[in-house]
Amino acid sequence: MGHITIPEAEEILDREFRVLDKGFIRLVDYMGGDARIVQSARVSYGEGTKTQRKDKDLISYLLRNDHMSPFEQVIFTFHVKMPLFVARQWVRHRTARINEISGRYSVMEDEFYIPSPEDVQLQSTGNKQGRSDEEITGEVREAVIKKIDDSCSRSYADYNGMIEQNITRELARVVLPLNLYTQMYWQMDLRNLLHFIRLRADHHAQKEIREYAYVLSNIVKIVAPFTWEAFEEHVLHSMKLNGKQIQRLKEELETTHGDLLKELKIL
Ligand SMILES: Cc1cc2nc3c(=O)[nH]c(=O)nc-3n(C[C@H](O)[C@H](O)[C@H](O)COP(=O)(O)OP(=O)(O)OC[C@H]3O[C@@H](n4cnc5c(N)ncnc54)[C@H](O)[C@@H]3O)c2cc1C
Repeated sequence: MGHITIPEAEEILDREFRVLDKGFIRLVDYMGGDARIVQSARVSYGEGTKTQRKDKDLISYLLRNDHMSPFEQVIFTFHVKMPLFVARQWVRHRTARINEISGRYSVMEDEFYIPSPEDVQLQSTGNKQGRSDEEITGEVREAVIKKIDDSCSRSYADYNGMIEQNITRELARVVLPLNLYTQMYWQMDLRNLLHFIRLRADHHAQKEIREYAYVLSNIVKIVAPFTWEAFEEHVLHSMKLNGKQIQRLKEELETTHGDLLKELKIL
């Protein structure tokens, strides 16, 4: 089969998908797609290519049953520009290959993430890592944005002053805040990219990294559409039940919906 080219993916290569106010994701390169997954899975059985329908079913079967190694055969390289606080969450995903801009080598640009007014929210009381839906006035939102903006200008002026004094860049940068933009090349295989998306497109993740995860999802959808469909079905739209919840379902539904419970393999 050789090198796999996906026309729809070729079209988006190098295109900047804007994220947040100044960030982006660019697909630099990809290797493989749905066809590579089925090809590598079938090597186990010594079988060749089949119909599209069968390929789709095989991908769905692999994903549903956690046979994930064929998905590692598909590789993506992205160029991502994101605020430092997003990068800090991002790099927790350890299976990537990364090359980030060096603040020791380069003078950092005057680019900071400034949230839009609707993203300025109160601390949630129920979720210690989340935002509240409670309404706040436009004046409060604007005042917060101004505070963030002023703080960034002051920090950058201090940084720039030190650079002009020829203070070493690796030290001058310590005054720069977490919303400074950074850039990295990020290479990830499809298995771990799906894992990243599952965690970071989820509503528990911070809104800003979610925005990036949505763009990554759209790119996966283009490069590996059968995989995306199966991932939506078996992972994103699925849920885990614990032992007590299953027991409760049995007790509540056994007499009225026994057949359904059998079909769902709960009985
Ligand atoms: C909503 C949310 C809140 C979070 N809050 C916090 C927080 O408060 N503090 C904090 O420190 N982190 C936090 N994290 C980060 C989180 O704990 C994980 O580090 C991050 O999501 C990466 O997940 P991972 O380790 O599964 O992924 P990866 O590092 O990409 O690893 C992928 C998979 O490879 C396997 N793997 C990787 N390394 C090992 C290993 N050493 N041993 C065995 N298996 C391995 C595991 O199966 C793992 O799931 C948060 C993440 C989310 C999504």
